[in-house]
Amino acid sequence: MSRPGSHQSISGIRASSVSAKPPNPIAHPGEDIADPVRPRQILDYVLARRSVLEQIKHDALLREQVCDADPYLIRAAKNHGETTERTCPMCTKSELVHVNYTFGDDLGYLSGRVKSSTELKSMAYEYGHFRVYVVEACTSCGWNHLHMSYVLGDGSPRTPPREPRDVLK
Ligand SMILES: [Zn+2]
Repeated sequence: MSRPGSHQSISGIRASSVSAKPPNPIAHPGEDIADPVRPRQILDYVLARRSVLEQIKHDALLREQVCDADPYLIRAAKNHGETTERTCPMCTKSELVHVNYTFGDDLGYLSGRVKSSTELKSMAYEYGHFRVYVVEACTSCGWNHLHMSYVLGDGSPRTPPREPRDVLK
């Protein structure tokens, strides 16, 4: 690498790490949850995002690295993305869309799927505990970053659904 540390200096949380490498599921004990659809254990990535945007100001070469949305994310953003009122910080042309990825032990083979906000609400009653990662993406320039993540579910652990045997691989 001719620019030592240029890769490592991105301190933001890359959206591609969500879609490519799901976090290790952690078994969760049963919880008493009053409202399954109310987000809990909320993490926001505002500071990480700001830090990435700051770094880009000082290093134009980093731009390519942050506008690296993979084809799956762009496709998900086009087909299932939920529009926001916020303009892309990189190209300032398009409005950002949010894509919700869902992960959790309770989801079994369905873990990692993209879900709409409406689907998330019904899932909150079908499962005990799963984490939603909201990725913001720009379908024009490929900017992507984690926006926030949170946990939904009614608190009662479920047996993960079994993958149907006739699913075509
Ligand atoms: Zn953009």
